[in-house]
Amino acid sequence: MSETKLRYSKQRETIYEVLKDDCTHPSVDAIYTQVKKRIPDISLGTVYRNLNLLADNKRINRLDIGDGVIHFDARTDPHLHMVCDECGLIQDIVCHDSTLLELINKVNRHSEHEIHSADIIFHGTCSHCLKKKS
Ligand SMILES: [Zn+2]
Ligand SMILES: [Zn+2]
Repeated sequence: MSETKLRYSKQRETIYEVLKDDCTHPSVDAIYTQVKKRIPDISLGTVYRNLNLLADNKRINRLDIGDGVIHFDARTDPHLHMVCDECGLIQDIVCHDSTLLELINKVNRHSEHEIHSADIIFHGTCSHCLKKKS
């Protein structure tokens, strides 16, 4: 592998590592801020390009919660999301991981279509905000 290629793949792995350690489903800007701490001379365009490449290769997922910003998720298995209406935090719903898969299977059984994936976003108040209220 050439030195340039090696540098590019190293950048991509660093971006992937940063996303993997971040469970907040960050936007490109948030990921860029984190990656810059490790690779100070990296540009926003490079981060964006690599995220899209990782998403196209199905190593990460894009997540659209309707706020006009694309969020990224290092978890690629089917799972449910919850957006807090108070603080805007996007969280994985960790319990009942098979719920989404069961739903997809059910829709496949009852429709003439073939469903591959689904994004389900719940809206509510997160546990942190609930605690603040009480
Ligand atoms: Zn909240
Ligand atoms: Zn997620």
